[in-house]
Amino acid sequence: MMHAMKCPICDSELAQKKRDGVEMEVCPSCQGMWLTRQELPQLEDEVFDFGDDEKGSLMLGSDSTTRKCPQCGKLMRSFQYRLYDLDLDFCEEQHGYWLDAEEDKRILELMKKEEKNLGRKVLAEDRFAAHLQYLRSGSFMDRLRDLATAAMDPRPKPDL
Ligand SMILES: [Zn+2]
Ligand SMILES: [Zn+2]
Repeated sequence: MMHAMKCPICDSELAQKKRDGVEMEVCPSCQGMWLTRQELPQLEDEVFDFGDDEKGSLMLGSDSTTRKCPQCGKLMRSFQYRLYDLDLDFCEEQHGYWLDAEEDKRILELMKKEEKNLGRKVLAEDRFAAHLQYLRSGSFMDRLRDLATAAMDPRPKPDL
């Protein structure tokens, strides 16, 4: 049996939960979410329309965090995902990401506003689920790994 994973914020045991069709580990007390790498399932194009444009670029936080990876206990690093001004913590061993409950709510609100403004038929919840899937995909994880590697390398950084 797998060792129970603990919340990096409040040390509660994470529980598996399905949200908008996405399986994740959620902290029952602070509601933060642990997202691990997954194979990208088939998604509808209209939902999955946030491309690799520059708004989607990543920025590595300058500081390491005091939060530990629920899986290996290594201190995580933070990074920003510019598209939604999203602040995430990640494990450099690529075990996954930590998303605070506050961030989670904020993004969903943002997407709901967009939904209204654009008059789109795609529900914010569906877009959010698709977005989470994207963040867990191999291509995104690989981009992040490259970013972390480049940050530790004193040579000029490639544009990511
Ligand atoms: Zn917690
Ligand atoms: Zn880890």
